[in-house]
Amino acid sequence: MTTLSRPDAARNASPYLYGAEAEAVARVLADGQYGHNEVTEEFERQVAAFLGVPDAVAVTSGTAALHTALTAAGIGPGDEVIVPSLTFCATVQAVLAVGAEPRFVEVDPRTLCLDHEIVRDALTPATRAVVPVLFGGRAVDLTPVQAVLAERGIVVVEDAAHAFGSHGPNGRVGATGDLTCFSFGPIKNLTCGQGGIVIPRTPREAEDVRRFRLLGVVQSQAERATLTGYQVDGYGLRYQMSAINAAIGLAQLPRFTTTEQARRTLWSAYRDALTDIEEVALVDVDADRSVPHLCQIRIPGRDKVFHALKASGIGVGVHYPPNHLQPAFARWHRPLPATERLGREILSLPFHQHMTQDDVDQVVTALRHVLTTRVRS
Ligand SMILES: *Cc1c(COP(=O)(O)O)cnc(C)c1O
Repeated sequence: MTTLSRPDAARNASPYLYGAEAEAVARVLADGQYGHNEVTEEFERQVAAFLGVPDAVAVTSGTAALHTALTAAGIGPGDEVIVPSLTFCATVQAVLAVGAEPRFVEVDPRTLCLDHEIVRDALTPATRAVVPVLFGGRAVDLTPVQAVLAERGIVVVEDAAHAFGSHGPNGRVGATGDLTCFSFGPIKNLTCGQGGIVIPRTPREAEDVRRFRLLGVVQSQAERATLTGYQVDGYGLRYQMSAINAAIGLAQLPRFTTTEQARRTLWSAYRDALTDIEEVALVDVDADRSVPHLCQIRIPGRDKVFHALKASGIGVGVHYPPNHLQPAFARWHRPLPATERLGREILSLPFHQHMTQDDVDQVVTALRHVLTTRVRS
């Protein structure tokens, strides 16, 4: 168990390129215009068409998408934003970027996602937004609290960084009417190299989002026609997606069916291989409807298992250390016992499209080996 016969099992995550991406980037470079341009706009149109939504606004990252969406939703200083502690730190940093206060909450240990009861219990008079994280690609259904949220003017901004292509009980993620943010970072379900996209709720919101990602500069043709130079209309940052990144996404998108199948097959292979290991609880990503982004298990004594698997060359990871325990977020700490326990038990197995059934077998064999030696010692 000390030699690693399958190098792909050594990586927890890995970008997957189909080959067409390099050519697409070369075309953009040869063209000589590689800032934000019509290639980016074509990517926006194709993502919108894929999701079945009227519009999509491409930005430089998933973090930028969240920052932009929270800004467009009017969230700012003094506002409280409900956010699960168990998420990538980017979700929290985006809340802080708009000057709002994160209110950390628990997740359902079975799914690692928020549910409507958790949200209902966390509402305060200062709550202005909820950011559900679609963990592992799983959709979060807040329908039972929707009326309460609407009545109080609370916005739902979905962190769907894991969930490009997933469906939930109410339809495709991004197309259910909420303000939704996707990431197209290197290891996400679809990659642009780096990138993200905001799915706005209305044409007006789309305009705000476009203005924000272009340094607050006036965008409409009609307005621009009357100007010499440009006009800055509000606060904004340099968040537009370049044509280089968009070209990568445009090359990936037509191949997404392959991505989707590969990820489902891989997740199911793990599920089948893990069924008879008693100590292991598999996190339920709703694989029939989701495009799985991670394969996570819960296991008591995780740290020992983590180190032993690392030592045998298996690329395990932890998604994620709870944010309410991070030094930078100490001001917003509140006791979250379920999340703290998850923080000690979650383990992400290698999960990426280079992996084969043999890789899965090697990972699970190594896991079994670690567990049996642990029991004996
Ligand atoms: C990746 C990720 C983000 C941020 O996306 P970037 O493109 O890396 O900025 C936000 N939230 C979650 C849950 C993520 O996994």
